[in-house]
Amino acid sequence: MSNEIAQLLELQSIDQRLTEASERIKRLQRDRARLEDKVVEAHQAHAQRKEDLRRLEHASLMKNLEVDELDANIRAYQHRLDTAIISFKEMEDLAAKIISERKRIGQMEDEALQSMDAIGREHEALAAAETALTERQIELDAAIIDIDSQLGSIDRSIAELRLQRAALTESMTEFLQSQYEALHRKFPDPIAVVSHASCSGCKLKLSGSTIERARGSLGLVACEHCSRIVYVE
Ligand SMILES: [Zn+2]
Repeated sequence: MSNEIAQLLELQSIDQRLTEASERIKRLQRDRARLEDKVVEAHQAHAQRKEDLRRLEHASLMKNLEVDELDANIRAYQHRLDTAIISFKEMEDLAAKIISERKRIGQMEDEALQSMDAIGREHEALAAAETALTERQIELDAAIIDIDSQLGSIDRSIAELRLQRAALTESMTEFLQSQYEALHRKFPDPIAVVSHASCSGCKLKLSGSTIERARGSLGLVACEHCSRIVYVE
């Protein structure tokens, strides 16, 4: 293998590692964004639950106020019955109102008790959910920190690979480098080994003379189909 091919293979290997590194970065950044979404979702769900409980408590308070109001009505009717000089018809009406209001109060008090129970249970459940949320937050934070540390280490290896690449291209002729860069824009693997008399890049059969030239050490030989630089191991 010529020195030129050895240099090109090393350059290709550095470039492939750089590509892999940037793909890993993209994957990790996607994972990181997903984790951050999960943190936000968990907090939103919890905030919604708290808001639902607040509404429940408000509804329960309103119901209690309504019970108080009905109670005040009954006392007012009763007072009128006891003290005012009224017709028999009005007496009957007031008595009927008292009965029906008492019945409503009874129903509403049952409902109020049920909703107080529900509120009590939800307070307990919410406290448990709060603890679970804190634990979840710790887990997600740890996973994000882990991703950040992976990203940091990839950044460092990219910087290292770039230094290696710069040192390598420094030692290559400008012509060789420009040949490589032009092919690299088209292929991730611009340098292909001859395998079973074919180009390992495009898999097509090479002519005998191409293989013969690739075997020699005079200049670069291109695949006649895809124009990758071919060499014989
Ligand atoms: Zn080819």
